[in-house]
Amino acid sequence: MKKYYLAVTYDVCEHNNLFEDMNEYPLDMSSDLEKQISKFAKMDVAPLVKVYESDTSDFQELRLYKEYKLKEFECGCNQ
Ligand SMILES: [Zn+2]
Repeated sequence: MKKYYLAVTYDVCEHNNLFEDMNEYPLDMSSDLEKQISKFAKMDVAPLVKVYESDTSDFQELRLYKEYKLKEFECGCNQ
């Protein structure tokens, strides 16, 4: 069965209890996943990107597939 993948970027700041989804991007699994993730993270300056998997293209039911943490985009509150 064909599966569909969606990347969601998150804005996270533990110091301000912030955990907010920003944007959703459909993924092309035939090309390099990590490259796509780092591109989306950079565009949104997102310290966290989650990849969700779905059996349908409307993404009614999502399963968490992978999670990427990007240290370089973490907030600088405690520095
Ligand atoms: Zn912070």
